Amino acid sequence: MDAYDTDPGVAAAVASFNLPEHLGFGQINAPVMFDAEWRNGEWQRGRLLPYGPIEVWPGSRALQYAELVFEGLKAYRVGRSRPNLFRAEANCRRMIRSATRLSMPAVPEALFFQGIGAVVRACSDIMPTQSGRSLYLRPFIFGSESGYMLRNSRTFRFMVIANPVEPYASGAMEVAIERADVRAAAGGLGEAKASANYAASLRASTAAVVSGRTIALWLDGAEHRYLQELSGMNIFTVLDGELHTPELDGAILPGITRDSLLTLARSLGYKAHERRIPLDEVLEGIDSGRCSELFACGTAAVVSPVALLAEGDGREYRLQKTDAVAKHLRESLLAIQERRAPDPLGWTQELTFA
Ligand SMILES: *Cc1c(COP(=O)(O)O)cnc(C)c1O
Repeated sequence: MDAYDTDPGVAAAVASFNLPEHLGFGQINAPVMFDAEWRNGEWQRGRLLPYGPIEVWPGSRALQYAELVFEGLKAYRVGRSRPNLFRAEANCRRMIRSATRLSMPAVPEALFFQGIGAVVRACSDIMPTQSGRSLYLRPFIFGSESGYMLRNSRTFRFMVIANPVEPYASGAMEVAIERADVRAAAGGLGEAKASANYAASLRASTAAVVSGRTIALWLDGAEHRYLQELSGMNIFTVLDGELHTPELDGAILPGITRDSLLTLARSLGYKAHERRIPLDEVLEGIDSGRCSELFACGTAAVVSPVALLAEGDGREYRLQKTDAVAKHLRESLLAIQERRAPDPLGWTQELTFA
């Protein structure tokens, strides 16, 4: 991959950036962004720019037809001089799969890492260094050609933006069971990290928040009986002391945190199963005490315990103990991600900026 160009405004944008104490999740924008265009059948030389508004045609296919896929990963620099990534090549592979599902051009690994590397390098002195905090990276590809013809765009942009963040959710979550809307069905976009999935989930997500809950729980699209995931996070339950998570069925987003936890949990001596999990089994398990924990996982939240499941009519199923296994897994995973613990599987990668 050719080198990229750096806009002359980048140095001043970084120099004038102050990291606030309160970061939230996505509220603070890193001062730079990476931008590369796909035109005439190939990716053009990328540019590192000061963060700011971009020009997009109102009729672009990204805006009109949701021709947009994205990724989410974190760069960490906890007590170290160089930032590191966690399983970033898995994010790259998933972005290629997502783009392929929407028949958009894939971003080659070299360009993916060039974009991420450019942003992290520019931000390495201003990124958070406390445990739990990180620089969240949001690479995305979108169709920029204007027009309503039902085919893919012929021009695209690959961009990387970033946010210094604190953990996504703090405290145990109250989860609203969504029994009417469907987030994704097998054969659709569910296993692609596509913005369109979020469009399908926003009504339930917003209704959950308006009713005082944290997030919605999705059930399978065909029968509305089996656990799927939360909007943006995968889900695990602890039944009789063993871990269970819904098997990947074509509608569930294959989370890298989910995959990492399955491996990590087994290495820590837990039994971990992937299977179809009826919601009723979980609700009955909460009542009987068989189900001791439910927790969500994803890059943003790492591992986040669930305090209760709520039906639309207000009925609540409250977990007895919310944070035993979840806490153990969260601390073990975060220690690897932040390079405070041995990393036998080589999941982390230090950035060298050669
Ligand atoms: C990104 C995402 C997840 C979590 O995936 P990670 O790779 O663990 O961050 C789960 N569900 C959906 C819908 C997502 O978009």
